[in-house]
Amino acid sequence: MTVASHRIDTNTLRRGACPSITAPMQTGDGLLVRLRPVSAALSAQDLLALADIARRHGNGLIEITARGNIQLRGLIDASVPRLAADLAAAGIETRTGVAIEIPPLSGVDPSEIADATPIADALRNAIAAAALTLAPKLAIVVDGGGVLSLSDMVADIRLDAIETNEGALWRLAIGGDRETARSVALLPSDAVVDGTMAVVSALAAAGPATRGRDLDVPTLSANLSEGDNGQEAISWFKSGPRHPVGKHHIGSRLVLGVAPAYGQVHADRLAALVQSLSACGAMEFRLATHRTLLVCGLSEEGLSAAQGAAEREGFWCTDKAPGRSVSICAGAAGCASASFDTHAAADAVVAHAAGLLDGSVDIHISGCPKGCAHPARAAVTLCGTADGVGLVLNGKASDPALATVPADGFVPAIQRLGALLRNRRAESETAKSLLDRTAPDTIVSAYQGHQ
Ligand code: SF4
Repeated sequence: MTVASHRIDTNTLRRGACPSITAPMQTGDGLLVRLRPVSAALSAQDLLALADIARRHGNGLIEITARGNIQLRGLIDASVPRLAADLAAAGIETRTGVAIEIPPLSGVDPSEIADATPIADALRNAIAAAALTLAPKLAIVVDGGGVLSLSDMVADIRLDAIETNEGALWRLAIGGDRETARSVALLPSDAVVDGTMAVVSALAAAGPATRGRDLDVPTLSANLSEGDNGQEAISWFKSGPRHPVGKHHIGSRLVLGVAPAYGQVHADRLAALVQSLSACGAMEFRLATHRTLLVCGLSEEGLSAAQGAAEREGFWCTDKAPGRSVSICAGAAGCASASFDTHAAADAVVAHAAGLLDGSVDIHISGCPKGCAHPARAAVTLCGTADGVGLVLNGKASDPALATVPADGFVPAIQRLGALLRNRRAESETAKSLLDRTAPDTIVSAYQGHQ
């Protein structure tokens, strides 16, 4: 791999840009770098090298994002070039440029309609050659279908493979997931790159802040199609994707999806997991959406040992894990600004207030008011401060807390909150509905123990 210039672009040390090796993002716990390896299939050695790099150059915490990227945290300016050099030395090449996502098992899933890989590669080359200025967070999905398709991933531009009697066609659409994106055209494989580039050029021409949702579909369709803008295509789609966490049969392959609890794992535990899984027969690893690591090469006999190893190292093996809607930052385990252990706090919420965790609301647990893990508002935020752990409803970590309890009173506060919600919940009621109809004062009283 050729290592590009490692001069850090300080103009991009902010939220809103995509953090990369050349443009890391400043967060409360140091610089954050987001990586996407070029190779979809990673070896055990690759993951062990990534763990080693995270430990030596950052604070050791590794995150797998909702889109299946790796994030390393806690870097400083001087460690970024060393990280890039060590990645190159380990033979791990990383993607640059516009994010083009394909399903994690593209090219190896016999149930897919078409292999998205060659189209994504051709598109990547065409965009690089055009040297256009595009929105920093522009996202393109090329989805050939299959068991772990990306139909639920929102993108500025989507290409979805559609099976027809004449072979696979590609539905070009903008601004949404597979169901919500607006159809622009239905294209054969040999026209799909040119067609997509017409949309990319329209985005660039409209200015660097323009996103797919901002474009005019009739104008694009008129320029691209001969009467068929793919509106009928939606009814041809197969059912939605399976959640990647859990056990899958992909043709003759057994694939196990595991997810680090709350999306993050320490390098030591990732390394221990990789060694255990290799001993169980794992041959290959792939990053996937929903913060998932896919483990390939296991036999049915090795599966339960692999699941046991994953659980021991703090990974979830089921998409029903109650903490999946909880976002946590590094907390006291990796950040000097944190006033409490966010991971232990999340475990307390899982243990005592599971009623909050049906997935209908976001829960954010933040070590301090900077709110690195969840910059947007969350239904419930529990935020560490000098005075204890504050409770914010429908807000951000930086918003004023409605109530604060001392750190050593946090677990009893969560137990009281959990009991309140259990007592008030109607049959089959979601956490969202329950929170919406419960007065904030009632929630605050329970949290503070003033009931
Ligand atoms: S404690 Fe958490 S929110 Fe605060 S700076 Fe550290 S990582 Fe960010």
